[in-house]
Amino acid sequence: MRSDDAEKTLDPGTESDWNTLRELGHRMVDVMLAHLQGRREQPVWQPLPDDSRSALEDSGIPREGEGAAAAYESFLKHVLPYGIGNTHPRFWGWVMGNGTAEGMLAEMLAAGMNPNVGGFDDSATLVEEQVIGWMAELMGMPAGASGLLTTGGTMANLIGLAVGRHARAGFDLRAEGLRDGPLLRVYCSTETHSWLKKAMELMGMGRAGLCAIGVDSGYRMRVDELKQAIAADRAAGSRPVCVVATAGTVNTGATDDLVAIADLCVEEGLWFHVDGAFGAPAYWSQKLRSRVSGIERADSLAFDLHKWAYMPYDIGCVLVRDPEEHMAAFATGASYLTAMERGPAAGGIRFADRGIELSRGFRSLKAWMSLKSLGVDAITAVVDQNVEQAQYLASLIERSQRLELAAEVPLNIVCFRYTDADEAQNREILMRLQESGVAVPSGTVLDGRFAIRVAISNHRSRREDFDLLVGTVEEIGRKVVSS
Ligand SMILES: *Cc1c(COP(=O)(O)O)cnc(C)c1O
Repeated sequence: MRSDDAEKTLDPGTESDWNTLRELGHRMVDVMLAHLQGRREQPVWQPLPDDSRSALEDSGIPREGEGAAAAYESFLKHVLPYGIGNTHPRFWGWVMGNGTAEGMLAEMLAAGMNPNVGGFDDSATLVEEQVIGWMAELMGMPAGASGLLTTGGTMANLIGLAVGRHARAGFDLRAEGLRDGPLLRVYCSTETHSWLKKAMELMGMGRAGLCAIGVDSGYRMRVDELKQAIAADRAAGSRPVCVVATAGTVNTGATDDLVAIADLCVEEGLWFHVDGAFGAPAYWSQKLRSRVSGIERADSLAFDLHKWAYMPYDIGCVLVRDPEEHMAAFATGASYLTAMERGPAAGGIRFADRGIELSRGFRSLKAWMSLKSLGVDAITAVVDQNVEQAQYLASLIERSQRLELAAEVPLNIVCFRYTDADEAQNREILMRLQESGVAVPSGTVLDGRFAIRVAISNHRSRREDFDLLVGTVEEIGRKVVSS
């Protein structure tokens, strides 16, 4: 027996084992493409049956492997049919993207190549750098702006805020930490996404450091109130650091007056951070750009590619106008990670120096391949289409005898209610609709009242889907009200 026969690996053993896995892999690709192609014919969402729930909750550690074919069977039976539903043409809950078939295939390629993308001199680093450069250009940021691809908007926003805090704290926060200095204040609106509360808590500034400014009737931050709050804080000895404005609020799709807030930040010496988690791609469209103008003036801008750019989860992006300030907030210079003059370590760990994580996956590849294969114009055309669909849905609701709009429709989010139903009944209508498998909107509360909320970041939706939505809500509503 040759000694290497006894050595272990996780690779298939023989030529024939490789071939068996290869056949399984081909089957997986076929099944997943068929799944996406036929998604319209399936329910949007369905509850897990007991046997699947129990398979996923109760089975013990698999000490001995059952083989890839058996594991794949379990995936087909218990996992694939019971996803949240966001690949479906009538999924409009929260703000979720569909993903694309090209993006799915790119994920497989990225996992096969499996580089660790903390930096260094390799193709994956250049792919990520190129995607960041494209994003900076698309968002109207200066050439040479810095950036990082992240798991999502929360992480991208957190990084942007951390850079802004470091740049404007007024002392060496990395060295000294937060101790006896003045209270650092960050401003947002009452409509700002909950990532910011978490970030303030995590960064040690606490919710006490957060100042939520009121909004106008269009759910936009009141800039006059912002100005007063900054002045009052300065008078009280606190230190204003950063304003977080939003392009596309999660409740209604409102965008703050980014130009006025950018001007105010310049005047006051504050960091201007924009949360464009889903709204940012509106800037790529000639038709929609004016709705988010001022976004290009951000000192830091966070947005998702897995929402309104339709790429598979997870991928977000943060852009920072000044690359020095970006590095200054994170670079560490650990001895075991230093750059060399040549070889793979040339160039250093540029991405680890721009954020929190060291080891990182090749998530840029799905963006790079999606953009190269589909083109930005095709993606932007669907963004335009989603906004037109939101207007179409709003017009159906306005024409309906039973439904009423609950807010303006500035972008791709439509909030409405069943007129004759009370709060509990509107909730009941939403839950029955979701359980029916016909469509999945989500819910929210506007001015203290519940509303059904349709967020359209879906490249598979057609006009007929919104006809079906309205018809089904009216039908369920009639039953709920009369029961
Ligand atoms: C979704 C969202 C976030 C959070 O982004 P994730 O990708 O879910 O982490 C932040 N802000 C807004 C406005 C969002 O819509």
